[in-house]
Amino acid sequence: MPDLEEEDRRVRIADLLLRLRRVGITDQRVLSAIEAVPRDLFVEPDSRDRSYSERALPIDCGQTISAPVIVGMMTMAIDPQPDDRILEVGTGSGYQASVLSKLCARVYTVDRFRTLVSAAESRFTTLKLTNITTAVGDGMKGWPEHAPFDKIIVTAAGEEVPEALFGQLRGGGVLVAPVGPQDGVQALMRYSRTKDGIAETKLADVRFVPLIPGVAERL
Ligand code: SAH
Repeated sequence: MPDLEEEDRRVRIADLLLRLRRVGITDQRVLSAIEAVPRDLFVEPDSRDRSYSERALPIDCGQTISAPVIVGMMTMAIDPQPDDRILEVGTGSGYQASVLSKLCARVYTVDRFRTLVSAAESRFTTLKLTNITTAVGDGMKGWPEHAPFDKIIVTAAGEEVPEALFGQLRGGGVLVAPVGPQDGVQALMRYSRTKDGIAETKLADVRFVPLIPGVAERL
């Protein structure tokens, strides 16, 4: 299927925004950012027709683009601010990074597959998103050169949040990540760094692809 026609896309996005509001994604800035990013450009051509549906969809390298409601929930949970520098672990299609780029100063996004990072970079160029810095690497180690970050978003699930990531979160910062078994239900957790330590809240039950250490051998 070719790219969606502009009018068709507008209708689908408007419908998506209504559905997101209904399930509690009420932050107008987050909704505006979702409105501004054509999700159909981030999925495989044969999934274009389902790109605004309430589902995660397959992308290259056996990975997935998260469902819109999850992107909305995670974005709302880190409450991006115009001056924020945000780290994303798990670039995937680049969709979540693009939504964040509309709301903060700079997004640093890392994935272990070069193929995915390259495809995401060309989407950022097409959409003229110039405040996203990409890297191929092991995001479990964070990105020390650019730390500390105001917010960190992890879009793959591990049994626990890698300790290095907490170390790269500034005081008052927020980290959101799915935590739990690879083959079961995980908890989407929100952690905030307070002066007394780390405070945590569970946001939802979710299913993400696994967080895997190291750079992928098949890039
Ligand atoms: N945020 C993405 C969806 C990510 S899917 C989007 O908006 O489309 C999860 C991604 O995490 C996959 O692309 C996977 O390759 C990546 N990933 C898993 N373990 C990783 C690690 N250790 N470092 C970096 N990326 C990792």
